[in-house]
Amino acid sequence: MKVAQKLEKVNQQIKDACLKVNRNPDEVRIIAVTKYVSSKRALEALEAGILDLGENRDEGLLEKWETFQDKPIWHFIGSLQTRKVKNIIDKVDYIHSLDRLALAEEINKRSLKTIKCFVQVNVSGEESKHGMSPEEVIPFIERLKPLKNIRVDGLMTMAPFTNDEAVLRGCFQTLKQLQGQIKAYQIDFAPCTELSMGMSNDFTIAIEEGATMVRIGTALVGEDD
Ligand SMILES: *Cc1c(COP(=O)(O)O)cnc(C)c1O
Repeated sequence: MKVAQKLEKVNQQIKDACLKVNRNPDEVRIIAVTKYVSSKRALEALEAGILDLGENRDEGLLEKWETFQDKPIWHFIGSLQTRKVKNIIDKVDYIHSLDRLALAEEINKRSLKTIKCFVQVNVSGEESKHGMSPEEVIPFIERLKPLKNIRVDGLMTMAPFTNDEAVLRGCFQTLKQLQGQIKAYQIDFAPCTELSMGMSNDFTIAIEEGATMVRIGTALVGEDD
């Protein structure tokens, strides 16, 4: 299926989810995750009107960046090794996987501009997942104050891989609560207005629970069907 057709379907699902909970679909931004697909397929997404692309590895990002330069808004969404920061830092607008102080310090040191970051939270506590525990997030943000190139735009999570809707909702609600708490502090370097949550199999639930950015790969640019 063409990306344009898939996008139409995704947009409808977003609308329906928003309607259910009385949200404006304009509040939800789609990040097309192109990590599994070619630059050609990613171009289809851009031509269909997608503005934001997400990659989870530095190699993938660099390869696509060669092709599209800074035409899309670039999101780095995967776990990021400190030594790889320098490879991507002048190419990305957002980093969704800020999960430790050493990484924040390296981003701050290497970047010439403010990087919009999401603190990645491991809500479910699964060992296989990256991110810090919810209790660690506020103390962590307090330590970012001296790092002038870091701005915490929001929180990000990956829900457990399950079809159990209650588990998914619980995970997204925890993140939303934490985001609200941080936002209420009105910290100038951590406005924390955004919630990056929801992937192909759970984005409608994430939207019902308040997602402002959904990271969609398979359902939007996947080539299997
Ligand atoms: C791959 C990936 C996605 C998108 O996954 P799909 O299930 O293909 O939509 C979203 N977020 C992160 C962090 C990813 O690595």
